[in-house]
Amino acid sequence: MVTIDTHQVSQVTLSFTEELSDGIFLIGFKRTFLFKAGQVIGIAMEQNGPRRLYSICSGEQEEEIRILYKVVDEGFLTPQLSDLETGDIIWITEPGGEFTGDRDPAVWIATGTGVAPFYSMFRSGLAEQKKLILGNRYLEQFHFFDEFATLMGENYIRCCTAESDEGVYPGRVTQFLEEQAELDPKLKYYLCGSAEMVVETRDILISKGIPFDRIISEIYF
Ligand SMILES: Cc1cc2nc3c(=O)[nH]c(=O)nc-3n(C[C@H](O)[C@H](O)[C@H](O)COP(=O)(O)OP(=O)(O)OC[C@H]3O[C@@H](n4cnc5c(N)ncnc54)[C@H](O)[C@@H]3O)c2cc1C
Repeated sequence: MVTIDTHQVSQVTLSFTEELSDGIFLIGFKRTFLFKAGQVIGIAMEQNGPRRLYSICSGEQEEEIRILYKVVDEGFLTPQLSDLETGDIIWITEPGGEFTGDRDPAVWIATGTGVAPFYSMFRSGLAEQKKLILGNRYLEQFHFFDEFATLMGENYIRCCTAESDEGVYPGRVTQFLEEQAELDPKLKYYLCGSAEMVVETRDILISKGIPFDRIISEIYF
């Protein structure tokens, strides 16, 4: 459960907006606050307008805050966000949330834009002793591929459902986990994605002997 101070909103000016792949956007603005890798902020188009939560997709020390989001066609906020241009203004809350990274050995598991908090942890220097398992429909959706692959090597696993490529697991993240003969119960398992993905993945981990308290989840609803 994410709690953030909803009274503290401030306006920021977009320093860039870019469509990284079909319907997936990255926007950025100058950082004016401290946060922990994995935390979220609320975003609105107007000071008192409806807000949605987004994971910060930048390292803790970076000068720019980035947000990776997917346009939900029938949604309220994301179609409006995708019309914005550099120099436009959005309203943000202070950062909050407990889904934060540390230096303990862990497995990071995400689908879609759920990669954002892990990219934040990665950019904050927390990638050592981590395994990153990502799921997407198309290969072009594995954003930040070069950076992850260069630093994490074999510990960066892509699971792709609609396209194949060398070194890419052909199927869903859940299928990949099901096929693992053994999972280490001493590791922490961080899950980020839709409710269905998180619940299904958590069930698989528990069935493979991972204690419930080693599983840390962030649900994008
Ligand atoms: C803790 C937290 C962190 C989040 N971080 C991110 C993030 O980093 N990036 C990101 O893209 N989203 C993130 N989300 C989801 C985000 O808050 C919004 O729900 C999403 O962007 C849709 O907002 P909207 O106003 O466009 O659509 P809404 O008007 O809110 O939603 C319309 C419908 O679409 C559904 N929906 C919401 N998200 C999706 C989706 N991804 N795919 C399909 N249907 C969806 C909703 O359940 C709703 O039924 C996060 C959510 C939470 C709770």
